[in-house]
Amino acid sequence: MTAPLRALSATEPQSSPAEAARGPSPAVMPTYARQDLVFAQGQGSWLISTTGERYLDFASGVAVNALGHAHPHLVEALQTQSGLLWHTSNLYRVAGQERLAERLVAATFADRVFFCNSGAEACEGAIKTARRYHFINGAPQRWRIITIEGAFHGRTLATLAAGGNAKYLEGFGLEAGGFDHVPFGDPAALQAAIGPETAAIMLEPLQGEGGVRVVSDEDLRGVRELCDAHGLLMILDEVQTGVGRTGKFFAHEWAGITPDIMAIAKGIGGGFPLGAFLATEAASAGMTAGTHGSTFGGNPLATAVGNAVLDVVLAPGFIEGVEQKSRTLTQSLARVVDAAPDVVEGIRGRGLLLGLRLKVPPADFVKAALAEKLLLVGAADQTVRVLPPLTASEEELTEACDRMVRAALRLSHLNVTLT
Ligand SMILES: *Cc1c(COP(=O)(O)O)cnc(C)c1O
Repeated sequence: MTAPLRALSATEPQSSPAEAARGPSPAVMPTYARQDLVFAQGQGSWLISTTGERYLDFASGVAVNALGHAHPHLVEALQTQSGLLWHTSNLYRVAGQERLAERLVAATFADRVFFCNSGAEACEGAIKTARRYHFINGAPQRWRIITIEGAFHGRTLATLAAGGNAKYLEGFGLEAGGFDHVPFGDPAALQAAIGPETAAIMLEPLQGEGGVRVVSDEDLRGVRELCDAHGLLMILDEVQTGVGRTGKFFAHEWAGITPDIMAIAKGIGGGFPLGAFLATEAASAGMTAGTHGSTFGGNPLATAVGNAVLDVVLAPGFIEGVEQKSRTLTQSLARVVDAAPDVVEGIRGRGLLLGLRLKVPPADFVKAALAEKLLLVGAADQTVRVLPPLTASEEELTEACDRMVRAALRLSHLNVTLT
């Protein structure tokens, strides 16, 4: 007989050094090529492994831990809510959900918000909303969505089809229909793809997984104009770019335009699973009782944390601070390019969603950074993502760049010696 499970105390790490040492468990489906690393605790921009090593976390759980780890305001919000009420379902009104929706509406273009639990669900909901809009407006044949090559919208069957990445679609049967893909940065191709069945254009203002590729403000305005001219809805996927990440509350603000529908997730929960799609009143007109749902979506725990994230991100000066940090980080990253031009080609991105374009495989750079106790995230298009928490200090930004310089030198053949 196995011993009964002992409840862990709040301060106790969830994994021991012994567990970390035995290697990855085969009980977990091996769909990820994971680093063999287990973390016991997080604190601000730092993660501490079960073996006691401190890592500077510029992966931020893939742009999720916007306020770093164990932010006192988020911890307090979750602890307080967890003693009151966790879940009631959406059969009843949820006070925290109404409050979070009203705050998002007040701070954005949107009139309505639907809460879900992830980015893929948010994108699915955005797609459904666009199709439903044309359906109730007497044009049910308008159901196709134009998307951009290199996009990432999630791993559900519809969002995989939207992204159109052949590698992710292989072996999963007939691809979900209704998506037309056009090359990145090609306004003429975008225009040419519009047909009588087109319902919407869906894109990320900056492709994260796709290699930190920024859509120019001019091109984003062009998409808005095309949508207006053809009666299409503009859907923005701001799952990665939203909630202050690019130095605006949402990245489309840089271009001075607004979408009709927007998917968000990642940063809004600060690490608690929370997603949403937002829409104008007109665009969401078809989403009436019974058209969509989610058991967990917007539950009291998730929205308590979402509200706490907004307390911090929408406080005066916070987002301006992201801009300032971005300038510091961009300047320091230039040192990484200078140190090993045979490894690093250049810098791209916006705000604190930055990337290094590499001349080596991104996985090699991630490994080299790991050896310097710095966490980064790989991306497509020969790019590694640099995603600090929005709360990172200037010293931490500089320290991360020092570690990136050393990581780059590990991979360089130019025989530069560190001084
Ligand atoms: C991460 C991401 C998604 C998918 O989010 P999940 O929570 O993994 O479903 C969708 N779109 C973009 C732009 C993302 O970065």
